[in-house]
Amino acid sequence: MKGDAALILIVEDEPPIRRLLRTTLAAHDYRTLEAATGAEALSALRHHHPDLVLLDLGLPDVDGLSLIGQIRANGPVPIVVLSSRGDEAAKVTALDSGADDYVTKPFGADELMARLRAALRHRLQQQGAERGFTSDDLSVDLVRRLVRRGAEDVKLSPKEYDILEQLVIHAGKVLTHKHLLREVWRDELVDPQYLRVYVRQLRQKIEADPAQPRHVLTEPGVGYRLV
Ligand code: CA
Repeated sequence: MKGDAALILIVEDEPPIRRLLRTTLAAHDYRTLEAATGAEALSALRHHHPDLVLLDLGLPDVDGLSLIGQIRANGPVPIVVLSSRGDEAAKVTALDSGADDYVTKPFGADELMARLRAALRHRLQQQGAERGFTSDDLSVDLVRRLVRRGAEDVKLSPKEYDILEQLVIHAGKVLTHKHLLREVWRDELVDPQYLRVYVRQLRQKIEADPAQPRHVLTEPGVGYRLV
């Protein structure tokens, strides 16, 4: 069983946090590797090919954001960033630099595990090109471009569909405003207000209670996530 467990590279310079991550991951049957600096992280990456990198942005020898770029240059391993509370700008930059997701310190074990599972699953989906999403009353078939809520077909405008399609392709992962503006409007400089308007319309159509969305969640200051 252990041999099949995903191997997680923990990149964190503070020993107590590293220890906490190691014990938490081990308790959930993950295998772990540890690095305290950017240089150690790149070396571990090349020698051990981890399934996921858990990355603290505040490292002693290298800027965390440039490290994301270097990890990305090595291959498509999922990266989950550990960030500080309230630092929305760093989260957005990390996501736009190629990180898959983030967890805010101090984090709970459940939240951390959910983010890791989502990032690992997302990578498998990309490899297998899964073309749909089903959760409770919502189902989306990207091949036939069909959206249903319960037994009802939902009619979406092209832009509403394009937003939902992005969310489905990256289900579980937070998508930044910039990502959605680039993919849906082909223009990162469009007023993010447009996005808010279209997401509101989308929720009117696919959420049982648009005021308490259960599928399309807002990540304040960052973007949206489909769950
Ligand atoms: Ca640190």
